Amino acid sequence: MTVTSETLKKTGSSTRPTVDSFQPRARMLLGPGPSNVHPSVTAALAKPLVGHLDPQFLAVMDDVQDMLRGVFLTDNRLTLAVSGTGSAGMEATLVNLVEPGDEVLVCVNGLFGQRMADIVERIGGVLHTIARPWGDVFALEEIAAALDRHPSTTLVTIVHAETSTGALQPLVGLADICHDRGALLVVDAVTSLAGCELRIDDWGIDACYSGTQKCLSCPPGLAPVTVGPRGLEKMKRRTTRAVSWYLDFSLIQSYWTDGRRAYHHTAPIAMNYALHQALRLVLAEGLETRWQRHGLHSSALMAGLAALGFVPFAAENQRLPMLNAVRLPEDFDEAPIRRELLDAYDIEIGGGLGELAGRVWRVGLMGESATRQSVFSLLTALEDILLRRGRSQGIGAGVEAATRSYHALSE
Ligand SMILES: *Cc1c(COP(=O)(O)O)cnc(C)c1O
Repeated sequence: MTVTSETLKKTGSSTRPTVDSFQPRARMLLGPGPSNVHPSVTAALAKPLVGHLDPQFLAVMDDVQDMLRGVFLTDNRLTLAVSGTGSAGMEATLVNLVEPGDEVLVCVNGLFGQRMADIVERIGGVLHTIARPWGDVFALEEIAAALDRHPSTTLVTIVHAETSTGALQPLVGLADICHDRGALLVVDAVTSLAGCELRIDDWGIDACYSGTQKCLSCPPGLAPVTVGPRGLEKMKRRTTRAVSWYLDFSLIQSYWTDGRRAYHHTAPIAMNYALHQALRLVLAEGLETRWQRHGLHSSALMAGLAALGFVPFAAENQRLPMLNAVRLPEDFDEAPIRRELLDAYDIEIGGGLGELAGRVWRVGLMGESATRQSVFSLLTALEDILLRRGRSQGIGAGVEAATRSYHALSE
């Protein structure tokens, strides 16, 4: 019997009523994250809990670090999973590499660039920003010119995959521009890691952070980060302590990387099990295969959406494969249709963020969600909804265009 407040009143019990257990409906997660999770990753969360200093768990941590190096394509020793979501990775990277008074150049072309600027200011950094309209990306010369205007800049931060706009920032050559001018390069790879090409060591990136719930297809809760030799040097030269105790790498390192395994805070143990399994799946598939898979399904989805009257938001050669942002057709009932996709088809997609609210849709095809099944489920559901709302022309065109795209790309 469910205990209601009525029965409690009758029995005179002072305990709180029992809450019904929670059983969410499964969804197809095609928003900007979280993405769908492989059943073996969900199962990993339920493995027996052990202590955070149990040798069995320490072995898991070693594996997680090793596999993260494999996914980041780096040899950086300081590579670990920060406790917290992608934003914790952002904050951790910045509080460790920025001291109050440091000049920092933040490139802002979407919501996540703005978030980095906010954090730099909170730390007490001297903020310089360059901006591009949402959906655009930066030319490397622009960043070089900004550094020449602010020659004391110690750090440049940029978002690789701007999830708010669907734009992919080219990074090759940027590290040299920064290093030649005495600055380090920090890259936000929350959405790009394991979804498109990213090479920490080859591209000379000094520090990078990500999150688990996007292309790694793991629940949200950990933030992979990696810091290279220049970053370590900068941390060593600090004259002040990091403004956050919880995120201070000099303390976290003594648990994760310097062999001492000293207690700092209790690692989210089950989440590390899940990440362990998610990383195994990524590496078993192979990074390059995975990048290609994201590209293949994105092309098919974009072809299908274009046939239904959606217009790609970012320019052709600077579009993210894992996050497809599109402008909506004229007089499109954005929020109700998105809600119908969720209620009637169990498909979640993303609306616009910030200045793009109501103006775009953001369809994520990340990790486990980057499949033919996702592409065709969304397109058929949309066509069904449009037909029932009285549209007669072009129904079926989305599925056909996606089919042709797959066909063309598999030849
Ligand atoms: C999702 C995202 C973040 C923030 O990650 P949370 O897990 O939501 O904290 C930061 N940067 C980018 C580019 C993202 O896509």
